[in-house]
Amino acid sequence: MREMRGSPCLSGLIAKLLLQLFPSKCPSCGSSSDSVSHAPFCKSCWSGVRKYTGPSCAVCATPFSSEDAVICAGCMKKRPLFSMAMSFGIYEGILAEAINLYKFHGIKRLAGPLAEFLTDFASAGIDAVVPVPLSITGLRNRGFNQSLLLAKTFSGKKDIPLVMNGLMKCRETGAQIGLSAKERAKNLKDAFSASRRFDGMRVLLVDDVMTTGSTANECAKQLLKAGAGDVSVLTLARASAL
Ligand SMILES: [Zn+2]
Ligand SMILES: [Zn+2]
Repeated sequence: MREMRGSPCLSGLIAKLLLQLFPSKCPSCGSSSDSVSHAPFCKSCWSGVRKYTGPSCAVCATPFSSEDAVICAGCMKKRPLFSMAMSFGIYEGILAEAINLYKFHGIKRLAGPLAEFLTDFASAGIDAVVPVPLSITGLRNRGFNQSLLLAKTFSGKKDIPLVMNGLMKCRETGAQIGLSAKERAKNLKDAFSASRRFDGMRVLLVDDVMTTGSTANECAKQLLKAGAGDVSVLTLARASAL
């Protein structure tokens, strides 16, 4: 069995078989998928996903149009409870399409290639990776926690312990869409709780998308309450609030 696994012919065959088992057209350009690793997206579209390298707030990672600013007005006014947020890209184009297919259409196999983007970030000094949780109802409706799968892959690749249920979402909250930053914060107030102590630990909170940062802030609040020495945030994409 071990010899067979190493055979390039066999892996090629498996790849072909997988493509046949999951026949799909690239949701972005409509051509046939030519990749197993990030199917249904084709190689060409997937390679178009870009890391955001423009200017952004040093604290919350909000993209700036100006090269001169260091910290955004929101963070100047009131510092978030997390020390720093990092985001791979902007929530647009293929990245947004992929996140939506993954999250809302249950294409769970995109967790791996999406989490691959997160591994781009340094993880030195991090003691634990904690995913943003879903409520029990949310989990029942979706069937999986998108942030947990991302956090799991990240922790495995970086060899940092994953604290799977480090945070719990103890109540259902209304949709955040259409709410102002203030309303979002109010909507999430005390919606999360830590299930254990994090004394002196440097915790990395993982989520798929960050919009105003209210969720990250509320989660950071609970982690700090549970003793965490520092909370930073890692997400796939930054979205602007609508
Ligand atoms: Zn394509
Ligand atoms: Zn900021």
